Amino acid sequence: MSSAAPSGVGRPPSGRVLPTLNEDGTRRWIRPKPSHGAWWKKRQIVAYSLMAVFFAAPHLRLFGKPVFLMDLPHRQFTLMGYTFLPTDTPLFMLVMGSGVIGIFLITALFGRAWCGWACPQTVYLEFLFRPIGRWFDGGYTGSRNLDKKGSWFTPRRIAKYLTFFAMALFVSHTLLAFFVGTDQLYDWMSNPPSEHPTAFFFVVLFTGLVWFNFTYFREQTCLIVCPYGRWQAALIDRQSVIVAYDDVRGEPREHAGKTRDPQAGDCIDCGACVQTCPTGIDIRQGLQMECVHCTQCIDACDDIMTKVGKPTGLIRYSSQDAIAGKPRHLLRMRTILYPVVLAILIGGLITALFLKESADLTVLRGGLDGPFTEEADGRVSNQIRIKITNRRSEAMPYTVTLDGIAEAGIRPDEITVVAPENPLKVDAGTTRSTSLFVLLPRRAFTNGERMITISVTDGRRYQESVQYRLLGPVGNAPTGKFR
Ligand code: SF4
Ligand code: SF4
Repeated sequence: MSSAAPSGVGRPPSGRVLPTLNEDGTRRWIRPKPSHGAWWKKRQIVAYSLMAVFFAAPHLRLFGKPVFLMDLPHRQFTLMGYTFLPTDTPLFMLVMGSGVIGIFLITALFGRAWCGWACPQTVYLEFLFRPIGRWFDGGYTGSRNLDKKGSWFTPRRIAKYLTFFAMALFVSHTLLAFFVGTDQLYDWMSNPPSEHPTAFFFVVLFTGLVWFNFTYFREQTCLIVCPYGRWQAALIDRQSVIVAYDDVRGEPREHAGKTRDPQAGDCIDCGACVQTCPTGIDIRQGLQMECVHCTQCIDACDDIMTKVGKPTGLIRYSSQDAIAGKPRHLLRMRTILYPVVLAILIGGLITALFLKESADLTVLRGGLDGPFTEEADGRVSNQIRIKITNRRSEAMPYTVTLDGIAEAGIRPDEITVVAPENPLKVDAGTTRSTSLFVLLPRRAFTNGERMITISVTDGRRYQESVQYRLLGPVGNAPTGKFR
C-alpha cells in the first residue's frame, strides 16, 4: 500500500521482490544501522519497562491470584486477580472484544503504534536480540562484513547463536509460566523430563520457535506472517498519524554539495533512513505495509538535517492529509464509532463484573428414566442435579435447602429429602455437582407439578434461590414407572 508518491519516488530496488528476499529467492539479510536519537531513547524506556513487566508478571499476585494466568489445563483465565471460568465465555468475549476494538482505535488515531512501541516481536528483536547480536558480530559494520564474506559460523557467531539459545530458553520458560503458573513450572524444572514429557515437549517447541524467530526469521514475522500489517489499509485513513516522509518539503531530492540546485527539496538523498530501517524499506516511497512505525528513520533523518543545518522533521509523525497541507479532522466516522463500541463493551464488562456472584448455581432435572419415578410405597421421587462453581480463592461449603415442600395436608413423615453431600464442599475456582432426591406423596402434586424454592448459601455473603418445578403424575392413574 502506498500513498501517491512524487516523481522519482516509489521505485522498488531492482533485483528484489521483497525487502528480505532477492529475486533469485535467496534471503537478503537486513542489518539496520542503529539511530540513537530522541525517539529511540523514548522507545528504549518503553521497551525495557515492558520487558520488566513480562518477566515479573508470572510472579505477581493480586487478591491472592496471579496477575495473568492462562491456565489451559484447568480451562481458566486469570487477569488482574479475576478468574474467568469456562462458564464466563460471554465475559471473556467482552474482554477480547474490548482489546480488539482498542487496537482498532489506536490504529485509526496513531497508525501502527502497537507495532513500533509495544509488540513483543519488535521489542525483543530491536532492544534485546539485535543489540546483543551486533555486539557479537563486532558492530553494524562487523555484521555486514561477516555477511559479505558468508561467514555464518565464525566462533563469535556460534557464541551469538548459543547466547540467543540461552535467551530463548529464558523467554520460553517465562512464556510457559503464563500458561501453567510459576509453581507448576518450578515443579517441572526440578524434576526429570520423563515425569512430565508433554510439558517438556512444549518447552522444547517454544524454545525452538523463539530461537528460530529471533535468530533467523526476524523481521519476516512482521512482513510475511503477521496479519496486522495487512489490516492497516482498512484500519487507518489519510488523517491517521503515521511515520511519514514530507515529500512536499523533501522533493526533488538532491545530493548535498556545492553544485546542489537551490530549488531542490530538503532531502539530500543520503540513504540514512533506508540504512536504519529494520524492515529494509524506503519511507520515501510512501506508506507501506512493511513499515512498523519504529521511528528509526525519524531519528536518522533528524540527525542528518541537524548536520546540514535544516529544520528537523523531514520524516516525522504526521498524517497523509497533513503532509498534503489539508486540515486535521479529529472527528471522523472511525474515531467516533470505535470509542462508542469500546464504551459499550467496557460498560457491559464492568456491569457484568459488578453483578457477578461469588458462585455460579445451575439446577438441572436429573433421572435417566424420566422426569420422576414412583416408588414402591406410592410416593413420587424427583432427582435434582445441583451444579456449583466456586469463584472464591478458597474452598467453600455450600448448603442447599428446599422450601415450599411441607404444606397443608402433607405430613412431615411423608416427605423425604435425600442429599448425599450437604453442605457440598467446592474447591477454589472449581465446579462440583451433587444430586438431591425429593420423595412426596402423589397428592402433593397439582396437575402433575409442584413449585418449590431451592436455596444455596456459602454461609457468608453468597445466597441464591431459584424456583424449581417438581413433576409428578397427573390424577391418580398409575404411570407404570415404578422403581
Ligand atoms: S520506514 Fe521508518 S518507521 Fe517504518 S519501519 Fe522503516 S525505519 Fe521504521
Ligand atoms: S535520511 Fe532524510 S535526507 Fe537522508 S535520504 Fe532519508 S529523508 Fe532524505
